[in-house]
Amino acid sequence: MNKKTHNLIIIGSGPAGLTAGIYAARSNLQPIIIEGKEPGGQLMGTTVVENWPGNISILGPQLMMNMKEHAQSTGCQFISGDVTKVDFSKKPFTVATEKEELKAHAVIVATGATPKRLGVPGENDYWGKGVTTCAVCDGTFYKDQPVVIVGGGDTSMEDASFMTKFTKQITIVHILDKLTASHAMQQKVINNPDIKIIYNSTVTEIKGNGDHVAQAIVTNQKTNEKTTLDTQAIFIAIGLNPNTTIFKNKLEMDKWGYLKVQNHTKTNIEGVFAAGDVHDFRYRQAITSAGAGCMAALDVERYLSSL
Ligand SMILES: Cc1cc2nc3c(=O)[nH]c(=O)nc-3n(C[C@H](O)[C@H](O)[C@H](O)COP(=O)(O)OP(=O)(O)OC[C@H]3O[C@@H](n4cnc5c(N)ncnc54)[C@H](O)[C@@H]3O)c2cc1C
Repeated sequence: MNKKTHNLIIIGSGPAGLTAGIYAARSNLQPIIIEGKEPGGQLMGTTVVENWPGNISILGPQLMMNMKEHAQSTGCQFISGDVTKVDFSKKPFTVATEKEELKAHAVIVATGATPKRLGVPGENDYWGKGVTTCAVCDGTFYKDQPVVIVGGGDTSMEDASFMTKFTKQITIVHILDKLTASHAMQQKVINNPDIKIIYNSTVTEIKGNGDHVAQAIVTNQKTNEKTTLDTQAIFIAIGLNPNTTIFKNKLEMDKWGYLKVQNHTKTNIEGVFAAGDVHDFRYRQAITSAGAGCMAALDVERYLSSL
């Protein structure tokens, strides 16, 4: 595979990458999809998805397995692992994993985003020992136990609603004086007696017994007053970092690291396109990422035809 120059390499296998693959394969471009360390992307870490058209309710991992099966059926070839290096300075482009170096006439970057960490004392010590970004993956371990969720956006609301299946002792800690989640998500949480919200505050330290989280130190941002919450789990839901480190100084990005695009999908390098959460900090949905993947593949097809 590494001897020839491919038409198209797609980096990432979330909704954006897999949809791009389906469209590109059906245009006979024989795309290669490099899956990354998280095959299927962010939806692999959620339970029920209820806003994917055509499925009233479907599990995130099932939806992504369906998408991968669809991409495979159209002829997409998959390579596992991360892309570690790219060279977009000359054509054909070079895309390297730890195991091989590939060449391609066009590239779609669909590397998505990764949930942020707090960066406070104790977080690393108790990572995976009560500190997590995935309530859906780990929630079931905390039946009838107190849990803390950090953040006031959609992910935090989703995590809090999900945790009500297991416990009545849920505290959301939010740095602002208002939630930032969509109205519908907020209502689910605000009206739930099992969920308490502490505003204007954040978790500034995580303490434990050496093996597991035991307490969250919560600091009020206005008064600096510290409160200790007994908790068995801290779910961090404070936003995302775009996965663009390998593209630094190679593709234009904004101050937060999101790729900049023009005409919907085009990066500053002709022949390199971007799709999904890696450039879209506004919508961040599976359907919008899939739509962006479709657009990028159509633009690649036009670009390659024009060569
Ligand atoms: C808990 C949670 C619940 C959600 N629920 C919903 C929902 O119900 N409905 C909805 O529409 N959206 C939901 N979302 C949002 C949705 O998951 C994202 O908007 C969507 O997955 C973004 O798709 P993407 O393809 O752009 O990127 P991602 O899904 O982030 O996928 C990125 C891909 O890139 C790969 N990658 C990263 N770096 C590299 C690299 N160096 N080399 C190769 N590959 C790489 C990863 O392995 C991954 O496969 C949810 C998100 C979360 C976190």
